[in-house]
Amino acid sequence: MTSDTTSGQPVPEQAAPLVSLKNVNKHFGDLHVLRDINLDVARGEVVVVIGPSGSGKSTLCRAINRLETIDDGEITIDGKALPAEGKALAKLRADVGMVFQSFNLFAHKSILDNVALGPIKVKRTKTAEAKEKAMALLKRVGVDNQANKLPAQLSGGQQQRVAIARALAMKPKVMLFDEPTSALDPEMINEVLDTMVELAQEGMTMIVVTHEMGFARKAADRVIFMADGQIVEQAAPEEFFTNPKSDRAKDFLGKIL
Ligand code: ADP
Ligand code: MG
Repeated sequence: MTSDTTSGQPVPEQAAPLVSLKNVNKHFGDLHVLRDINLDVARGEVVVVIGPSGSGKSTLCRAINRLETIDDGEITIDGKALPAEGKALAKLRADVGMVFQSFNLFAHKSILDNVALGPIKVKRTKTAEAKEKAMALLKRVGVDNQANKLPAQLSGGQQQRVAIARALAMKPKVMLFDEPTSALDPEMINEVLDTMVELAQEGMTMIVVTHEMGFARKAADRVIFMADGQIVEQAAPEEFFTNPKSDRAKDFLGKIL
């Protein structure tokens, strides 16, 4: 609650979470990969998700984009429940941008077309307008001079920045990143992280699976530590990295720091 400065009366903040997961469970056969996940992400918040391999981080991201179904619980984006299929799902998915470890660009399309195609096909944006906007996005991520090349002609770091531009072209309300730098050569990691930090500073709501502590410290409002499909611990980055509470988190940080 903040106070209305003229009347002194408390007024409700715009408190509704942009992304909300309530009691979300997911099994793959006998494997319980998401266990009663409760997570609210506020508008403009940057949440970093870390945890051991196999703890359910990717499944969590995929569930939020409904690339994966859930067994029970509820996921809402900006107050709307994720619809099962069809046009309603496509529409809501456009609100959720996703960047994967592998860049997943269309190999036979130019960089510019990679970014312009989503708006043309899904949002029915006119081609010329979509290309103009795509060019502006390529400029924003620093690869506008590569616009007419094919993905394979770019470095991994450049391709990942194109993937970010492509996701942004849909004007998402939230961006999900699943280990966006873990397939990159070390010298290219920072150019992608810098782009993500800028995005965070511009106020984008972001859920980022990464073990890049520098990014978490610079950009995250909150770190979520997952193990065995559960949120074990969450805290502000500085607090989490200097003073982890659970043995699982201490053990994990001991291995990666
Ligand atoms: P993380 O991203 O934290 O490494 P994942 O979400 O990828 O974890 O996986 C969580 C668990 O679910 C792992 O044990 C993984 O092997 C299993 N898993 C993931 N996807 C599938 C699938 N499509 N079918 C069966 N098991 C899966
Ligand atoms: Mg993963």
